[in-house]
Amino acid sequence: MDQDVIARLAPSPSGYLHMGNLLSLLLAWLDCRAQNGELIFRMEDLDPARSRADYAEAMADDLRWLGLDWDRGWPEPSYAQSRRTAVYEEAFAALEARGLVYPCWCSRAERLAAASAPQPGEKEHDASCRCARFTADEREAQLRASPRPPAWKLRCPDETLRLIDGHYGELLQNPAREVGDFIIRRADGVFAYQLAVSVDDWRMGVTRVVRGRDLLSSSPRQAWLIETLGGRAPSYCHAPLLIESGGSAAGEKLSKRRGSLSMQELRNSFRPEALCGRLAFLCGLIDRDEPVTPRELLADFSWTRVKTEDILCDERSAHP
Ligand code: GLU
Repeated sequence: MDQDVIARLAPSPSGYLHMGNLLSLLLAWLDCRAQNGELIFRMEDLDPARSRADYAEAMADDLRWLGLDWDRGWPEPSYAQSRRTAVYEEAFAALEARGLVYPCWCSRAERLAAASAPQPGEKEHDASCRCARFTADEREAQLRASPRPPAWKLRCPDETLRLIDGHYGELLQNPAREVGDFIIRRADGVFAYQLAVSVDDWRMGVTRVVRGRDLLSSSPRQAWLIETLGGRAPSYCHAPLLIESGGSAAGEKLSKRRGSLSMQELRNSFRPEALCGRLAFLCGLIDRDEPVTPRELLADFSWTRVKTEDILCDERSAHP
């Protein structure tokens, strides 16, 4: 057993949790506890416009209700991203000192919801952006002349990065060609998800990241960012997504933005063990949809039982 695993639960309080969030949080908990790891609870309340304290409270309460616990973290202020600006400033300055950061005035770049984790299918890269190619003089002139403050982008490496995901295997990615330079600080000064999550994983000593598969393609650049800052990247292990099987959102990832069943509604129709059993059954951990606690799942927990394909879930007809 590895005694040194440090993992994290890292929800964003921009809505109530739904079944998709719960599945990845349950798997993160099982993965960590099965390795006798230490679990951090980090509140990803980076975006002041979308984060709410009542959602944060509800998330912690809902996770405890399901039977998940953690060893340290929120509400201690140093585990809330909204209180970690100084740590991000320091990393930003280090990247800037290495010539990796440049200002970007493209309006599209500013509109991108950079403070939130990317959604599946969301286009992050703006191929028409020419800001990266400005000479130092042109950049200075633009900084003086533009009435709008710029967003700040990170120059991606033009090399093939190799990442071995614990569940999906090898991923090769050339960030410059496949992702493009990405925003690390918005024009309004708010730090972007990609910077904050990488810096936090590094500075909190996280060695293991388990989360939904929609963030798999963000992992090579997060690992690269951590290593560029002088840290050691964690190992990554991604979980299948729950996909709507019916209604107007059929085929799409369950999401707060699309109004998937929230924990409030789920708690009205499920006992905690019934919901845990449903999640465990849906992802392949147990063969029958029957009540079980997270702790009971630990004995047989193995990623080899967890499906790799995304999971259809008719949650509108969710019944115990
Ligand atoms: N806070 C992100 C979310 O709730 C997850 C970030 C991560 O695990 O890297 O979507």
